[in-house]
Amino acid sequence: MAPDLRSYVRDIPDFPIPGILFRDITPLLGNAAAFRESVEAMSRPWQDRGVDYVAAMEARGFMFAAPMALAMGAGFVPIRKAGKLPGPTRSVSYQLEYRDDELHIHEDAVPRGASVLVVDDVIATGGTAAAVVALIRELGGDVVGLQFLIELTDLGGRALLGDCEVHSVITY
Ligand code: AMP
Repeated sequence: MAPDLRSYVRDIPDFPIPGILFRDITPLLGNAAAFRESVEAMSRPWQDRGVDYVAAMEARGFMFAAPMALAMGAGFVPIRKAGKLPGPTRSVSYQLEYRDDELHIHEDAVPRGASVLVVDDVIATGGTAAAVVALIRELGGDVVGLQFLIELTDLGGRALLGDCEVHSVITY
């Protein structure tokens, strides 16, 4: 029987600042069956959809996107904080639930017209995901959709993603 993934997500109140209920996925990552089922459930909607690249934002997005890329026979594209990627980059600034940030992508990471799936662990306000969609489109990539492990529905993040196809495995 598939593990109950929700039971492997731990709630940490007031992290990293007062008022934020942090959804901690480390118990899920640490359980082999739960981690495998998470990657499989996140890959399921996108198999046979012609995904060329799975793009993810550091750091927790990487943990799911890399095994998903292998499972789908796609490449992996890292989207990183300022100062981490060595080559020429495009960047975007955006607002998070609890801080401001900037993300970068290598200019040559996605060929024009390539199909790109965007992955992250959590969608909260949707600001991060919307920023990543903008970056990929700026390079000429075609965003096939977005996949999250966890969706915090009260924050309405999907509204920022327009017509994009969005899937999540666990909702709160
Ligand atoms: P947002 O841009 O507001 O959708 O925030 C998404 C990013 O912030 C994701 O990369 C998450 O990893 C992280 N994040 C935001 N809120 C939470 C939360 N309550 N619990 C865990 N991670 C969060």
